[in-house]
Amino acid sequence: MTTTTVQWSPGWTTKAPEPGDLVLMLSGSGVFKPDDGWLQPLERMPEHAENTSFVSLGSADGRPVFVTQVSESVSTGYDVVSLRDALLTASDVPAAMLSTGFQVWQWFQDHQFCGRCGGGTGFHRRERAKWCSHCNIPWYPRLAPCVIVVIRNQDRYLLAKSSRVKRDFYSLIAGFVEPGESLEAAVVREVKEETGLDVTNIQYRASEPWPFPHQLMAGFFADYAGGDLVLQEDELADAGWFLPGSRPSVPPSTTISGRLIREMEKTILGREIKF
Ligand SMILES: [Zn+2]
Repeated sequence: MTTTTVQWSPGWTTKAPEPGDLVLMLSGSGVFKPDDGWLQPLERMPEHAENTSFVSLGSADGRPVFVTQVSESVSTGYDVVSLRDALLTASDVPAAMLSTGFQVWQWFQDHQFCGRCGGGTGFHRRERAKWCSHCNIPWYPRLAPCVIVVIRNQDRYLLAKSSRVKRDFYSLIAGFVEPGESLEAAVVREVKEETGLDVTNIQYRASEPWPFPHQLMAGFFADYAGGDLVLQEDELADAGWFLPGSRPSVPPSTTISGRLIREMEKTILGREIKF
């Protein structure tokens, strides 16, 4: 595997790409990956891409970066890597660049027309936003805040198996924040709905963009405060309290759930942690 490290900075322009600029090439939920790194110079794009649209992402090593979509039929010469595999397993991924690329492209596709009047949208002159000149309203990339929480009960912590994931894989309680709700209130509600448990001492730990398609995950520690484990069957297939070191398969530490689980284990074992 290559170890090309890209110094990527987010940014925005409405200018069209020029030769020498770099392109992140998406295909559905995958990335067309050149041999070296994740970006392709514009002049080396597949021929059919001449009529495609490009959307600005920022710059990499000082060169402008754009995102576009290419057809799977031109995959010759590229590895096609799913975004999920790239973020979970590849060691050389500029994760923020890929996450941004997918979310910006999704926004570009989803806001070609104004959601209020149905007319076509253009680009906002200064910001990364689509603009309806009839309604004078911007359409920004959508973000969906979510909470994810690891719950401690003395020397154990709670892991749960989703009823929607077929793999034998345990993770944490997570869910979308509702309108009008704080992150902490969302933690309390999601845990109660999915497990029947009450929690207290809710402490923010870290966040992570999760571009499937546009979640922003906010990770918390919480302490068990009462209640019996009663699973919401359409959400959870199983759940239980586990001791550090005696748990089932969990997500890798490249994900926020994997990090929270491992940090909770260190906390229970009394080791110093740096999140
Ligand atoms: Zn409109």
